[in-house]
Amino acid sequence: MRRQAHAPFDPATVPDDLCPIATELSPLRPGDWRSLRPIVDRERCVKCAVCWLYCPVQCIVERGAWFEPRLETCKGCGICAQECPHRAIRMVEEATV
Ligand code: SF4
Ligand code: SF4
Repeated sequence: MRRQAHAPFDPATVPDDLCPIATELSPLRPGDWRSLRPIVDRERCVKCAVCWLYCPVQCIVERGAWFEPRLETCKGCGICAQECPHRAIRMVEEATV
């Protein structure tokens, strides 16, 4: 089956009564504006993957003997720290790191 080519997006076609929507990708990444950063205690981490399961942006990655967030895309919400059953993640202020 042949795929249809999509026409380029034209912002002028968006009705006036809709909420504003993003029409361009922002160059900002969460690591540019996050105020808290998760720090993993590698000694406590047992690789249970609970943090990986709960992270809303799926930025937790497996490293050797532990899991840790990819900081470029982590938004600092702290859910991983709340959910880690081994208290292996703590949130610290970016300003102090
Ligand atoms: S939830 Fe905690 S113990 Fe489990 S993999 Fe993540 S950091 Fe490690
Ligand atoms: S702080 Fe939030 S976004 Fe960052 S790794 Fe934890 S759950 Fe994911």
